[in-house]
Amino acid sequence: MCLCHQQVGHMLIQLRNYTLLPLALSQTKFTNRMHTRAASIKAEMAPSEHNPKSESDICVYVRKKRSRKPQVITENIVKVEPQDPKLGSLPDIEEFAYNKPSIDLPQRKSKPILNDNDKTEVKPPSNWVKVLEGIREMRSLENAPVDSMGCEKAGNSLPPNERRFAVLISSLLSSQTKDHVTHGAIQRLHDNNLLKPEAIDNADESTIKELIYPVGFYTRKASNMKKIAKISLLDYHGDIPNTLEALLSLPGIGPKMAHLVMNVAWNNVQGICVDTHVHRICNRLGWVPQTKTPEETRKALQIWLPKEEWVPVNPLLVGFGQTICTPLRPSCGLCSVSGLCPSAFREATPKKIPRVKTKLSES
Ligand code: SF4
Repeated sequence: MCLCHQQVGHMLIQLRNYTLLPLALSQTKFTNRMHTRAASIKAEMAPSEHNPKSESDICVYVRKKRSRKPQVITENIVKVEPQDPKLGSLPDIEEFAYNKPSIDLPQRKSKPILNDNDKTEVKPPSNWVKVLEGIREMRSLENAPVDSMGCEKAGNSLPPNERRFAVLISSLLSSQTKDHVTHGAIQRLHDNNLLKPEAIDNADESTIKELIYPVGFYTRKASNMKKIAKISLLDYHGDIPNTLEALLSLPGIGPKMAHLVMNVAWNNVQGICVDTHVHRICNRLGWVPQTKTPEETRKALQIWLPKEEWVPVNPLLVGFGQTICTPLRPSCGLCSVSGLCPSAFREATPKKIPRVKTKLSES
């Protein structure tokens, strides 16, 4: 391509038009540079010489300068329409908060943490001291079967090692069995000189079965009595194990019995003896977070209940459960702590359905 002087001059004018900068100083410098560059282009481009590379250079040069062209700001400004002042400003954190419904919802129970590592975070239930005092007062007014026929009463008159064995056997027989039935079975065993390990080991299983009837699961319990007697003779010189783990390894002995035996026989308190009464009442009082088993109740209760209450709480609540806070239809009307109990009057006596006379029944 051949560029004459006039063409180059025209191009320079175009370049100047592209680079109309607002500042006079930069415009002067830029114009001078354009002149210098145009002169060099002219020198490089001989009239008879076709140099495609140079043409390309020019194009690139022009584009570069285009990119540096100052941007023209148009008047295309979006007008902000007047808004609600609340929408215009940043929201407060309270505006993200959950809006509580106007109606009162039932209070959620705080759940005590069952994990032993988190004991410190658990707070005892409010008013538990008042409730315990109220139950003690009620219990002092009336005797319950547990007061005279509980497992801890077994073998009261026997030497220490024989008494420990009697307490263990009594605990074994007490599961799924009322106190007076267990007490009767222990009396018959004692009267037949069958409350010692040697005697049980030598006796027929059928004889033991007959003597302990009608305790719950008497057949299996008679078999377990024989096994425990043998273990006692072979491993403990006629005595019983003195650790919780060893007691739990005996056939038919669960946590409730093992803790009771440790408390009564060895005066070694390692846990609360939680039977069905303690389990039920603790749940009714809201002392535990709606536990499903006595073992869950024991763990939840031990987290906050002071250790000095671990032993007395069992006969206290067992007797309360036998007399007032019964499994079915608790006597909430007679209960002095009903004002502090979240379950008061919830398990009301079912109303009797009035009998409707029909023509058939009348005839
Ligand atoms: S108020 Fe009723 S449910 Fe509650 S502890 Fe008393 S007897 Fe039991």
